[in-house]
Amino acid sequence: MRTSASLSISRSSERAQGSTEKPRLHDPRQDTIAAEVKGLSKVYNAGSSRAYEALKNFHLSIHANEFFTLLGPSGCGKTTLLRILGGFETLSAGTCTIFGQDVSRLPPEARPVNTVFQQYALFPHMTVRRNIAFGLEMLGTSRVETERTVERMLELVHMTEYADRKPDTMSGGQRQRVALARALAPRPKLLLLDEPLSALDLKLRQKMRLELKALQRETGITFIFVTHDQEEALAMSDRIAVIDQGRLQQVGTPEEIYEHPKSRFVADFIGESNLLDARVSGLSGTEANLTIEGFADIRAPIEWPLEVGQAVSLSIRPERLIIREAGEETCSGMARVVARTYLGNAVEYHLVAGNQSLTARAPRGGLRGLLDFAPGDEVGVGFEPGAIKVLLS
Ligand code: ADP
Ligand code: MG
Repeated sequence: MRTSASLSISRSSERAQGSTEKPRLHDPRQDTIAAEVKGLSKVYNAGSSRAYEALKNFHLSIHANEFFTLLGPSGCGKTTLLRILGGFETLSAGTCTIFGQDVSRLPPEARPVNTVFQQYALFPHMTVRRNIAFGLEMLGTSRVETERTVERMLELVHMTEYADRKPDTMSGGQRQRVALARALAPRPKLLLLDEPLSALDLKLRQKMRLELKALQRETGITFIFVTHDQEEALAMSDRIAVIDQGRLQQVGTPEEIYEHPKSRFVADFIGESNLLDARVSGLSGTEANLTIEGFADIRAPIEWPLEVGQAVSLSIRPERLIIREAGEETCSGMARVVARTYLGNAVEYHLVAGNQSLTARAPRGGLRGLLDFAPGDEVGVGFEPGAIKVLLS
């Protein structure tokens, strides 16, 4: 089937050179800023009694070629930020630049940006091929160029054999792939994706994660991806921005965010954490001495300024909490097992130590998996060296 050229005129578009360009190797270019917001605030219904500040003094820089994720619970402001970047929402204060250009006052169509929404908005009366071609035609891309790009996009999302089907004859995952192909076809410099996988079932979502990531690498287009699913964010992103109640909490690689959470919110929202109250009882060189009620003192590296006597929160991941036979000398304290949960690849123990609840997760067949405990057992608790993080807030 041929694509209609009725909408094309010979004007060439700087965005539509995709099919001749070689895919770049994946390498987020730290020297080129794809998108940047500075001092960004958004107040909905400003001036009325229903005024609501959805984004509070946001600063964020996203590098070219990056797979960047905005992560946070529902209502934290992710969609608002994405819509401001796309030009669908005005900002109340601050600036927004895309590839060095201040776009704060530009309409969506004047930005080198495309958006994939949660509900794939395909044209139901058009075939897959026509859906993908549509944006290119609107840009005035030549017929030959459009056809070539559509073929390439079909291949990229593994939908060539569905090219002449209409959306209502396809599954959710297939439709979402077409939506992606359509958004990628005009080769935007920046692609915004608002929870594009959330309508899919788990198996398909996991498959699409890998495909999306591969697509981003192959095209070299900067992706800003929105999700409330921390596992999805960890699996796909080069860097993640964690947002809570309109405030940016932390920005970093998945590993940095997981291994070095700065706040109780991040430690708790990303993966699972045991959160403990402690007091700084001494400082020596690069280490802090920490006193936790009911446990022997422990040491942890100093990652930010601390003062002796300061109350702090500590975080330790369940998989880094060690439980042993009661009475072993190397234990930091004692706890009682209140529940044991079999997880297939691991066993989780819910513990109580004084008035503190703790969770330990032992991989099955791992060193600690050799021991097994039952509810009611008294156990020794230890902390893997380096596993304790002192939180900033
Ligand atoms: P997320 O995408 O993280 O779930 P949103 O950006 O959609 O969050 O919303 C952030 C907050 O702003 C929410 O409390 C939401 O109710 C509010 N909000 C979003 N859009 C509007 C709007 N058009 N008018 C008023 N309040 C809004
Ligand atoms: Mg949203």
